[in-house]
Amino acid sequence: MGDSNARYYASRDPLGDEGDFITAPEISQMFGELVGLWIADLWVKMGASKNIHYVELGPGRGTLAKDVLKTAGKYGFDPQIHFVEGSLELRKIQRQAVPTVRFHNDLSTLPDDRPLLIVANEFFDALPVHQLVRSADGWRERMVGLEGDKFAFVAGDKPMDSIVPKSWKSASQGALIETSPAASTVMAEIAQRLTNQGGAALIADYGPPELREGSTLQALKDHKKVDPLEHPGEADLTTHVDFEMLQDIATKNGAEVMGLQQQGEWLRQLHIDTRLEALQRKSPQNADQLKRQRDRLVEDDQMGVLFKMLGVCGRRWPIGEGFE
Ligand code: SAH
Repeated sequence: MGDSNARYYASRDPLGDEGDFITAPEISQMFGELVGLWIADLWVKMGASKNIHYVELGPGRGTLAKDVLKTAGKYGFDPQIHFVEGSLELRKIQRQAVPTVRFHNDLSTLPDDRPLLIVANEFFDALPVHQLVRSADGWRERMVGLEGDKFAFVAGDKPMDSIVPKSWKSASQGALIETSPAASTVMAEIAQRLTNQGGAALIADYGPPELREGSTLQALKDHKKVDPLEHPGEADLTTHVDFEMLQDIATKNGAEVMGLQQQGEWLRQLHIDTRLEALQRKSPQNADQLKRQRDRLVEDDQMGVLFKMLGVCGRRWPIGEGFE
């Protein structure tokens, strides 16, 4: 999954109508604007210091960062800007959106001198997972092997019982769970930095509130679901994000969890409908389209419930808006 996605993102712009999938900031500017307000609010509450870094993980086309910085900029927010981005192809597009950005391959090279305000939208879902399956002989990893000239899932031969969470040890035969050491590592680094440097992180992604049984591995190509093994490096591979695990790791590394909120409710609490009305007044000819975009982000049967916002902060930082 890691190799496939590295190749996938390195070789194209995957977003938008011409690409394979679309994300909240690409659906509507309202998403980035409200994230920008959220950031500005926290930053003002903390004294509006010039000494601050804005960090985005996996910024795609840079659309979210651009909308965030424009909105928060109206309140004087003028941070140093850092993107963690693996794809050189996407870096080019991101630099056009945000010319003053500094790039990083991972979080290790981010500065450690000031508080960080970190945003990640649909970044964690692209990080590789391991799938563990309960076989007759205990837990095994589900591996990818060859059947003829085709990739196929096969059971690994090494016992994996020691890394299965306690509550899952006695699951019945055939049960499958997913775990992502890559996601755990990133979350631990975020939490340690917020603890040591101060700051806050807003993580938007999709998944259930606690770990569930079953494979959530999904491949998207041309906006359609395809077999995850059919097009290695040519389709976007994602899984549901394990928010239970992310919160647990944040807390264990000294950070505070502000809350986990459904995206629709979070956007409502940040007054998306007021923003919608303002945009509709400004361009009445687009009123219906704007409403459809708002619905796509907010409504239960669209992105409103499956997508979540996780807020995390360092000690002594205030709880951000949207988590009531
Ligand atoms: N946040 C954007 C794009 C989401 S797509 C949006 O909401 O539109 C996932 C992004 O994460 C892409 O920019 C991709 O190149 C980046 N990415 C995926 N895996 C990564 C990794 N391991 N390291 C760094 N960036 C990664």
